[in-house]
Parts: sequence; structure tokens; C-alpha cells
Amino acid sequence: MDFDWTEEDRTYRARIRNFLERELPPNWVEISRHGPGSREQTEFSLDFCPKLAEAGLLVPHWPVEWGGANRPAWEHFILGEEMWAAGEPRGAQYMNVNWIGPTLMRFGTPEQKRRYIPEMAAGKAIWCQGFSEPNAGSDLASLRTHAERDGDAYIINGNKIWTSYAAMAQHCFLLARTTGEAMGKAGIAIFLVPMSTPGIEVRAIPSLIGHGDIHEMFFTNVRVPVSARLGEEGEAWSIISYSLANERVGIPRYELAVRVLGGMVRELAARGAFEDHVVRARAGSALASCEAARMLVYRAVDKRARGEMIGAEASMARVAVVEADHAVTDFGLDFLPDTFSGRAFPAHLAHHERAIVTGIAAGAAEIQLGLIARHWLDLPREAT
Ligand SMILES: Cc1cc2nc3c(=O)[nH]c(=O)nc-3n(C[C@H](O)[C@H](O)[C@H](O)COP(=O)(O)OP(=O)(O)OC[C@H]3O[C@@H](n4cnc5c(N)ncnc54)[C@H](O)[C@@H]3O)c2cc1C
Repeated sequence: MDFDWTEEDRTYRARIRNFLERELPPNWVEISRHGPGSREQTEFSLDFCPKLAEAGLLVPHWPVEWGGANRPAWEHFILGEEMWAAGEPRGAQYMNVNWIGPTLMRFGTPEQKRRYIPEMAAGKAIWCQGFSEPNAGSDLASLRTHAERDGDAYIINGNKIWTSYAAMAQHCFLLARTTGEAMGKAGIAIFLVPMSTPGIEVRAIPSLIGHGDIHEMFFTNVRVPVSARLGEEGEAWSIISYSLANERVGIPRYELAVRVLGGMVRELAARGAFEDHVVRARAGSALASCEAARMLVYRAVDKRARGEMIGAEASMARVAVVEADHAVTDFGLDFLPDTFSGRAFPAHLAHHERAIVTGIAAGAAEIQLGLIARHWLDLPREAT
């Protein structure tokens, strides 16, 4: 089996690196200090993504009809690796590229496609994902936000929590219930809601990872036309299962982890502290975790590239990515603890902050382990 990149892939990667070198400003380290969820980075994306689009590097894997070039899934992935390794200058817009756009292409009405996809392909759209609620995170099927039909409209009431990008988003990809809670996942629908609709209130939640990264959203008698519904009532689950299989392998975090680890090793060597065999063994182990994550992610991407369904492979890749992030940040905390404060090594603290939330955001790692146990190892759901 050949694990190497083709010459064409290498040229493509070099082209992206050149673009990033040219286009990222000298103060990019400061802008990206708090990660892709921050206001600074999302604002920056509104300047950066149109340039990416212009260079044909925003949605190359999308169909030509929607501003793409029908390029292979692997190129999309190389793009993701390079963007993430640079600190994700696309900010919130990585979601448009990875899953919101493709979901609308597949399930949207012609009007929804026309309205939303071109501005995504132009790099001008910020979306947020309104899924989690105070009592519905891992158990999303118990969400309570309600959309009640009123003639040719729905009236939405409820609240969402932990929403990234909400303060800057123009649109929300919202899950709401159109039936009673007893219907579980079968009673949920998706709504494409302009954030400027009267009745939506957004409040920032102060957090360890930076003020303004995550939010609560309150919906009070928010009226949206029936045409804002994506798919049919009750169809949300099958649509988001499709969308999130793309999302779960969409963030190649290991690429940044490897670069951060490399920087830590260089610093240790400069301090004359990289001869110790324990330090070397731990660095090797952290690197092995990153490379294992890379291989598991590549396996899922390979399936996608072949047009096959991705099942438990996506969960395995995600757990491995979380473990790689933790291995690198633990290595740094153990052997270079002084570099996690002050301004000399901004990447260390930034990586650490992201590692804290990586096993929670976009679905808890424990839930992924449960899925692997059931769907890959075929273990019983509960011990008897
Ligand atoms: C930085 C960040 C950004 C986020 N952005 C968004 C966003 O943009 N949009 C959005 O909708 N949500 C977002 N979330 C929310 C995220 O999806 C939820 O936090 C996540 O799904 C977990 O849900 P919860 O917080 O309610 O925790 P819970 O579901 O209450 O889980 C708490 C703990 O119990 C464990 N647990 C729960 N059920 C099980 C089980 N069946 N088996 C084993 N263990 C279990 C979990 O693993 C976890 O450790 C974000 C979260 C973070 C941290």
C-alpha cells in the first residue's frame, strides 16, 4: 500500500502554503491567539476568505455549479490540514465549507440553495450551529426548543447554549422540535434562521477559552416562514447524521499538534534538555499519537473519497485526534511549564486551551467511545 502523496498533491500543498505566507498578516499570531471561535478570527475570516475564494482555494471540492472545481476529496483535506496548521484563518467559515454548504446542496430547496450557497462560496457568510441546549448536549434527541406551525410560518421558542460564533453569525442552522418531546429524534426539524430575526437574543458566556467564543441564544416568538425549514418535519436526524459524518473528520487538529510539538522539542533542545531519555520517549509517544490520529483520519477520508459511507471510523478518528491533542499539551506542561504563561510562546497556551475543549465540543469523546463499542466492537449496550 502506498501512503505517500502524489506529486500533484505536493504541488497543491505548496501552493496553499505560499498563499498563507503571502496573505497572513504579521500580527496573525495575535489575531489567532484564541482560536477559530474567537471574534477576532471570525472577523478576520471576512477579509481572508474572499481572497481564498478568489484564488480558488475556498471550495475547490464543491461542484462547479456552486463555485467549486469538482476537485477530489483528498485536495479538500490537504486544504483543511494546511488551514488548521496555520491556526484556521477561515474562522467560523470552515463549517460552511465542510458541511453546511454540502448539506444545503443535498437537502435544500432551489430557493435555499440560491439564497445561501453563493455567499458561502464567496467567503462572506458566517453561520452558527444551534444544536445544544441546557439539558440536551450529548443527548441531543431530548432538545426542547419548539417550532409551532402557524399558517405559512413557524413560531420558535426556546434556548440554545454553548453556541460558537453566535454573536457574529448572519444565519443559524437550528434544530427545533415540531412535536411533543415523546417523539424524541423523530420530532425534530432543521430551520435556517437569519440571526437578525426579531426575538433572538445572544449572550456571551465568559470562559477559559476566551470571552466571546461561546454563547447562549434565546428564541422568543421568533417567526420564520415555512420556507426556512430544511427538509421535512422529523427529518432532521437523518440530515444531520449525513452532515456530521463530514464534520467529524473535518478538523485535522493533529496537523497543528505536530507543529506545536516540533516547537516544544526545539525549545527543549535549545535549553539542553532534550537529551534526557524520559523526555525523548514522551516526545516520541506524543508524536506517535499524532501520527496514529492522522492515519485514522486518512482512513475515513479515503472512504469518503471512494464514495463509501463513513461509520465508526469517524468516531475512531475523532477520539484519536483528541488523544493526540492531549498528549502534546501534557508533554509541554510536564517539561516546559514556564512557556504556558507570558507572551513568548503563544502557541503553547493556545494549543492547551483548545485541547481542554476538544473532547467536548462537536460531541463528547465518551459518546464517540460508546459508538465505537456498539458499532465496531459489537459490544452490548449495557452490562447485564
Ligand atoms: C468550545 C465549545 C464550543 C461548542 N460549540 C457548539 C456550537 O457551536 N453549537 C452547539 O450546538 N453546541 C456547541 N457546543 C456544545 C457541545 O456540543 C456539547 O458541550 C457536547 O455535545 C456535550 O454536551 P453537554 O455539554 O450538554 O454535556 P453532557 O452531555 O451533559 O455530558 C457531560 C459529561 O457526561 C458524559 N456523558 C454524557 N452522556 C454519556 C453517555 N451516554 N456515555 C458516556 N458518557 C456520557 C459526557 O461525555 C461528558 O463528559 C460547544 C461546546 C464547547 C465546549
